[in-house]
Amino acid sequence: MKEIITCLSLILSLSCALAQEVKIVPVVLKDKSIELYIHNQTFQGQSVLLDCELKGMTSTEKLPITKFLEVGEKVLFTTLAPKDIYKPFGYGTSILYVEGDVQAKHDDNYVYLLPYPKGTSYNIDQGYLGNKTHENLYALDFNMDVGAEITAIRDGIVTKVIERYDKGCPDESCEQYNNLVLVTHEDGSIANYAHLKKNGAIVKVGDRVKAGDLIGLSGATGWASGPHLHLEVYTASWDGKITLPVNYYLDEKTTGEPQVNQVYAQKRLK
Ligand SMILES: [Zn+2]
Repeated sequence: MKEIITCLSLILSLSCALAQEVKIVPVVLKDKSIELYIHNQTFQGQSVLLDCELKGMTSTEKLPITKFLEVGEKVLFTTLAPKDIYKPFGYGTSILYVEGDVQAKHDDNYVYLLPYPKGTSYNIDQGYLGNKTHENLYALDFNMDVGAEITAIRDGIVTKVIERYDKGCPDESCEQYNNLVLVTHEDGSIANYAHLKKNGAIVKVGDRVKAGDLIGLSGATGWASGPHLHLEVYTASWDGKITLPVNYYLDEKTTGEPQVNQVYAQKRLK
């Protein structure tokens, strides 16, 4: 019995280790109890859910356990101890994880900057919940030519950069070729700047950016019918991202949600 369950644990842990870069790291102590650490070896903060199947063992923490792990962080989730070391015992583990903090709460009072420098203005080709491709998304499409400068809409840390692709088309089959920059904000929400041109990221993972800093160059990669910037602010959840209808500075003082077929000039940046 003991061997079977230990084997189950090994198989599950191994499959996690092979398929994922968020790893369970068990440490066996002298008294035969086992510390279960989880190591985030990815380049994004991850929400992690750990569950264990126990036979003849107890857990110091109530299962399942959810924690947010920063990049590179290794955290003790729980310690499993045999109830009686002279009787069979063992455990199986499973983990689930998603990029971003599922417990993040967006600061709805925050007003964002338009994503381009002083002296520029762009039309909104598709707004929040637009019926072309934003049916369930609070996302904005800015009509930008290839190579147009994109600036950060809020302070944050760059948590993902993809810029190696050079392909785009107007259907879902091209989604895999999407270049993007993700910036994670203080409240755990994330801005997604999508469809950048090949090698069009000006920043790299780990960079701190300020609102208004140049971060990338527009393009037409991924699922795109032509050059534009697709921009959304979202929080993570176990079922995917939850995009948010955030407010922007529409001119120097007016704030609100940008509307489709309106041109907005950048007037907040000096
Ligand atoms: Zn879009």
